[in-house]
Amino acid sequence: MLTVLATLVAAMVGAHQPAPARQVAVTFDDLPGASVGRLDIQHFQDFTSELLGALARHRVPAIGFVNEGKLEADGTLVAARVALLKQWADAGLELGNHSYSHGDLHTMPLETFKQDVIRGEPITKRLMTDAQKSLRFFRHPFLHTGRDAATRGAFETFLRERGYRVAPVTIDNYDYTFARAYDRTSHGAERRRIVDAYLSYMTSVVSYYEQQSQLLLGRELPQVLLLHANALNGRTFDTLARMLQGRGYAFVPLDTAINDPAYNRPDEYYGAGGITWLHRWALTEGKRGAYFAGEPAVPAWIAQAGW
Ligand SMILES: [Zn+2]
Repeated sequence: MLTVLATLVAAMVGAHQPAPARQVAVTFDDLPGASVGRLDIQHFQDFTSELLGALARHRVPAIGFVNEGKLEADGTLVAARVALLKQWADAGLELGNHSYSHGDLHTMPLETFKQDVIRGEPITKRLMTDAQKSLRFFRHPFLHTGRDAATRGAFETFLRERGYRVAPVTIDNYDYTFARAYDRTSHGAERRRIVDAYLSYMTSVVSYYEQQSQLLLGRELPQVLLLHANALNGRTFDTLARMLQGRGYAFVPLDTAINDPAYNRPDEYYGAGGITWLHRWALTEGKRGAYFAGEPAVPAWIAQAGW
């Protein structure tokens, strides 16, 4: 009886808890990690542990996109680098393919680029298989998806045939510019100033893409946030997660987010830029000028330090 009552009370309490109105899938590119500062393995281990700790504390079902080329030094696989990826898998997180060499579909011949995708598979695939998961997402380096319909069509057919779905992005940003500025100084006060500027920038970026979604779709879609695996995000992800939760976001897996019908909208953007899917859909629909206004800028001092 007590159990039934407890269940009933739990159900009632649950029913009165407002569901978070917003959803976001958090994705990290360039695993096992990007750095323009320290390159020793200890540094990568430190920021990977920090990042994974924050993801676990906030129960974020993140996905990491791997460049397997970064697992090698002078053509030899480095076990300690593979161990970084295993930390992600052991944390219960999914891994996807970001190509072997971080190749560029806009400059590489299609066949070469396809080979770069295949070459980027084996270790990630094994880690996912060992974790009873599968390698099922591909993230285009630079978000470069092809300069013409024929190339894009052929490449996406190739991806489908190898069992991949494209991992789109809706909240694009310049986290890597801030991260480079952060990597290039070890001065505590300077780093704190960069962290503060980054957190303020990211808050504006999230707000901007909420508005972009509202303007285009009349609602906020489940967003897909692109970040990079680096020391700056290791240090700040706790705060970023609290910022997102404070705005009413629930963290969802990538496949949950992109099952929203908005992600089936046509994308006929073939420009040179690697841009968010919200802007691809908007351009495809004929939106110009004013629609895009207000994208937060990277402060000049960060851009200079992070270039
Ligand atoms: Zn990348």
